[in-house]
Amino acid sequence: MSVKEIFETMEYGPALEATQEAMQWLQNHDRRFGHYINGDICEGSDHFNSRNPATGEVLAKIAQANEQDVHNAVASARAAQADWAAQSGHQRARVLYAIARLVQKHSRLFATLETLDNGKPIRESRDIDIPLVHRHFYYHAGMAQLMASELPNRQALGVCGQIIPWNFPLLMLAWKIGPALAAGNSVIIKPAEETSLTALRVAELALEAGIPRGVFQVLPGDGPTTGQALGLHHGVDMISFTGSTETGRHFLRYSAESNLKKITLECGGKNPSLVLSDAEHMDKVAEHIAMGAFWNMGQNCSAISRVIVDESRKDELIEALMFQAGHFRQGDPLDPANRLGVLVSEAHYTKVKSYLDLASKDGMTPLMGSVSADDRTITPTIFGDVSHDHVLAREEIFGPVMGIVVARSTDEAVAMANDTSYGLAASVFSASIGPALRSARAINAGTVTVNCYGEGDITTPFGGFRESGFGGRDNGLAAHDQFTETKTIWVDLNDYRDEDLIDG
Ligand code: NAD
Ligand code: MN
Repeated sequence: MSVKEIFETMEYGPALEATQEAMQWLQNHDRRFGHYINGDICEGSDHFNSRNPATGEVLAKIAQANEQDVHNAVASARAAQADWAAQSGHQRARVLYAIARLVQKHSRLFATLETLDNGKPIRESRDIDIPLVHRHFYYHAGMAQLMASELPNRQALGVCGQIIPWNFPLLMLAWKIGPALAAGNSVIIKPAEETSLTALRVAELALEAGIPRGVFQVLPGDGPTTGQALGLHHGVDMISFTGSTETGRHFLRYSAESNLKKITLECGGKNPSLVLSDAEHMDKVAEHIAMGAFWNMGQNCSAISRVIVDESRKDELIEALMFQAGHFRQGDPLDPANRLGVLVSEAHYTKVKSYLDLASKDGMTPLMGSVSADDRTITPTIFGDVSHDHVLAREEIFGPVMGIVVARSTDEAVAMANDTSYGLAASVFSASIGPALRSARAINAGTVTVNCYGEGDITTPFGGFRESGFGGRDNGLAAHDQFTETKTIWVDLNDYRDEDLIDG
């Protein structure tokens, strides 16, 4: 399914009213949050601020979970897990369906809270993130029952730690906790420190939905403290991580230095989009590519950031892209008319801007795009002629920055697409099934879409080759592989009656 198809406009009423609902929820908590351990709120001693990146306002003070908190959570998770796993698939499905319904009921609050905390446009949190969150919960609730009946040789791992990023805070939570809980694991999730609020709201709703104490716990905190303590803990059986490749490496180290816990990593990408010489409907091609590049402010591991175009189609594509990019109105993230909000944090703005400074130092001028230091905004930026070897075509920028690279043939385009340390996603635009499919098969990426931009569907595996990932896939049945072990139970039905153990 393409991202365009996912859009489903929901009726939320006036934006102002919705925002008031989210602010009221913060106020009900005195704008202070603890962590959720064993069904209780633990106040914690150290706190960090969660900000609205659009205004700089401190939305809430959030307790940072330390090593002792992690230890307590692991002990509760362990104590609760066997009973949770011993429940029938039907019973676990009931709890997950109840969470799905509650999250759906509070869609409006979740959408505005996500936008306030992250800076992403309400148009996306409302019409993409939150509707997908519902679908994931419902899907995995159904899977809880299906797995138990159809795949009885799968066994929950035990205690799963989950570390998620800030770019799709609630959606990544749903991707991870849905399948882990369905299989009978207990879960300790650490949201990104930039965006903990929606996870904290889910913690409340999960208790309301009847999740047993200790089975689902939320520990906000930073990476080097909370994330590392989870990674190194001997009582954690697996960690499922989404974030940067550099942090992913840390988790492999943590595992090696502790208990060889199972690790799955969903990391960065430098995703190419190939426009072959026979691509049709250039206006539509450009619409997909602009969406793929600028969606979520380009803060997307599967964002298109390299457009590799056959030289015969370059001018036409650039013209169509400029037209499309012009439609990405930017401004107040809470205004549904805007398709771009602000980058998630000042630190991230500085990082994205450093790539633009570097390009400028190398004498490259974008065809469009501008930076405003006043309000820390970066508008959709297109570099029209990027050398395949330049940093802009090699490193993950994670901002609304697209580089166009010219190829002289389909073979060269595919070779360029593969000349990267990453391999998460790619797309190919071509009118002929042969070249399109041959390219799709030749490109080393976990998901290749043809004549559209997208990430597949909630039922299709998502993850990367090479340094884009490790050890497993999210979504679909593959997500359930991540959170289960395969068990063999071999029963001798001969009951020792008429067989010698060794013949002769
Ligand atoms: P990150 O990898 O540092 O953060 C992701 C998660 O890992 C967060 O929950 C964070 O707290 C945790 N973490 C960070 N350092 C840790 C450590 N030493 N030990 C344990 N846990 C740790 O990502 P970031 O700093 O937020 O962003 C940096 C870059 O990562 C971005 O610019 C982008 O290139 C990439 N990124 C990728 C994704 C993705 O979806 N693949 C998401 C966010 C960021
Ligand atoms: Mn925030």
